[in-house]
This record gives sequence, structure tokens and C-alpha cells, in this order.
Amino acid sequence: NKQIVLKSYINGSPLETDMELKLGNRIKVEAPKGSNGVLVKNLYLSCDPYMRGRMLDFHDSYIPPFSPGSVIEGFGVSKVVDSDDPNFKRGEFVTGLTNWEEYTLILNTSQLRKIQQHDHGIGIPLSYHIGLLGMPGFTAYAGFYEVCAPKKGDYLYVSAASGAVGQLVGQLAKLHGCYVVGSAGTTHKVQLLKNKLGFDEAFNYKEELDLEAALARYFPQGIDIYFDNVGGSMLDAALANMRAHGRIAVCGMVSQNSRTDKQSFRNMFGVISKRITIKGFLQSDFIQLYPRFLEDITGYYKEGKIVYIENMNDGLESAPAAFVGLFSGKNVGKQVIRVGSE
Ligand code: NDP
Repeated sequence: NKQIVLKSYINGSPLETDMELKLGNRIKVEAPKGSNGVLVKNLYLSCDPYMRGRMLDFHDSYIPPFSPGSVIEGFGVSKVVDSDDPNFKRGEFVTGLTNWEEYTLILNTSQLRKIQQHDHGIGIPLSYHIGLLGMPGFTAYAGFYEVCAPKKGDYLYVSAASGAVGQLVGQLAKLHGCYVVGSAGTTHKVQLLKNKLGFDEAFNYKEELDLEAALARYFPQGIDIYFDNVGGSMLDAALANMRAHGRIAVCGMVSQNSRTDKQSFRNMFGVISKRITIKGFLQSDFIQLYPRFLEDITGYYKEGKIVYIENMNDGLESAPAAFVGLFSGKNVGKQVIRVGSE
């Protein structure tokens, strides 16, 4: 059973060498009687920026850290190959927390969601259950509708816009009647935002010397909603460009991972003068909306109203590099690892 193990706690940005491929033990491909668990074959594994937080020796977060020497845990799409839980049958597809390995015995089956065969049949790729229809898609949905308080005609800006979360935020905002601008780190991503994802405008933030001036150019009338995936100097630049009563949904701070962007905030006074609402959120705060999210987003996808871009890498051994790539912007769209075939 091949596995990816965290070698030791990381310091700042993760490196490929912080993880290693291990052969693991030979396992019996069965769910032991009395375990109430399921033995799954992992098909797709998700690389998500939040996992970096679990690689730090930091125990005061909303989720506990991994232990050095143990296999990495993350979201996946898996096939049940044996079951001691009457709710799951051999051959069914499930999504939820699993391990970065070929086969996993999942004991906490209450966190698994079955993937309905009919969803699969209508052309929704299985891997979308860790992207568009998984935690990142839900983050976009809950963050946009529940935190941003969007209105038709609002001017919305989203950073890391071509990523797993950002690409859906922009598309939902367009469907809602907002004017949408996104930023991303390469020309190719900017082209995708404008030509494939239907954003009104997009720009490469790495080509801008002055982020405040760039946002002023794209939003001469100001920003009503900033969906912040990056934090740091981009958040400060957005603050300078917010309209009165604007809303900032603080979703992530991926620029702060290595803490190289030490820009201090110059524009905080605007929070008072412009009565800006800044709200941090965790997608799990809204988990009761998950069934509605699945229905809405599956519907939009089937109707051709939204698309989803994935960055698929092959093989468990590709996972460390793919994960590290999230922090330099190597991924174009949702980063997924294909580890097994159906
Ligand atoms: P992405 O698919 O967007 O991948 C990360 C992207 O971040 C990279 O592709 C890169 O894109 C960008 N990035 C990396 N380093 C920097 C940097 N220094 N400055 C600016 N941009 C950078 O990831 P997700 O869509 O999965 O996650 C987006 C954000 O949402 C993250 O901050 C994540 O932690 C957060 N999140 C929060 C959740 C919540 O419940 N609050 C749940 C899920 C995610 P580029 O080329 O554009 O630079």
C-alpha cells in the first residue's frame, strides 16, 4: 500500500522533501468484521492550501496538525472495495476524508458522502466531487451567497481567481448579475478567466507594480465585494478601493504562507470611513447548506451555466510536487491527483 507521509513539521512554505513516498505495509483488502468501517480504493485525491496548516507544529487551529511520520489525510473520491458498514456496499463511490495512499480503511464513515450513480452517469466527472461539488466549490457557494451579501449590479473582485474556489466565485457572481474582475498569476490564467470562465475583466497581479492603482483602473467606481483568497498587500489594495458599505469575505491568506509578504496595512482607516464589513469564514460554518449547494451547482453545471477547470496530475508519487505547486501558482484550476482507476 503506497503512501505519502509527512516527514517532519514544515517551516514556512512546504517543500517536496517535507513529504516522502513509502511502500507501507501489505494490507488485506477487507474491512475487518466489527470495525463498522469501509475499505476503499482511492481514485482521486485533493490538494488544498489549508493542508499546509496541518503540516505546522501549531496546535491552536480549527483543525489538528498531522503527526510527523504518518500518512497525510485529505479529501478524496474513493471506491468501496469491502464494507462492514451496512450503509455502504462494495462498488459504490464515496467522497470524504481519506488518506494519501492507495487503499484506506475508513472507520469514521459518517463523514462520507455517497456519490449517486445517476450524477456520475450524466457526465459529471467523479473528480469534481473534491472540486466543483466538494469542499472548494462549497466554499465559493457559501462564501458568495452567505458572506458577501451580493446584489445584482455589485462590483466584485476575487483574487486567486482561476483556482479551485475563485473560478466558481466569479461564475456565481456573473450569474447573480455582478460585474466581475479576477486576478491571477500568469497570462494563461488571465486568458482563461476572460475567455473560458466569463469574467468581465482579469489581470495578472505579478505584472502590476502598484496593486492599488491596478484595482482603481479596473474599478473606477470602486469595489462592492472583495472575495479575498490571498490576504497581504492585495487585501490592503482592495481596502483602498472599496465603496461605502462594501463587504470583504476573508476566505484565505495564501500569500501569507511563507510570510514573505510583510506589507503592513495602510488602508485600515477605510473600514471606518467607508463602513466596510470584513468577515472571515470557514465553509464548515454553513454545512447545513450542503444539500442545496449540491442541487444548485449540479443544476447549473448540467444546464451549461458553469464550467470547471481542473489540473490533473497522475500517480500518488506526483502528490508532493503538486501540493507544493499550490504555493507558487503552478496549478491551473483545481489541483487533483489521479491515484487509481475506477
Ligand atoms: P487555488 O486552487 O486557488 O490554489 C492556490 C493559488 O493561490 C495558486 O494557484 C496561486 O494562484 C495563488 N497563490 C499562491 N501563492 C500566492 C501568493 N503569494 N500571492 C497571491 N496568490 C498566491 O486554491 P483554493 O482555491 O483551493 O483556495 C483558495 C483560498 O481559499 C486559499 O487561501 C485557501 O486557504 C482558502 N480556502 C478557505 C476555506 C474556508 O473555509 N475559509 C476553504 C477552502 C479554501 P496565482 O497563479 O493566481 O497566484
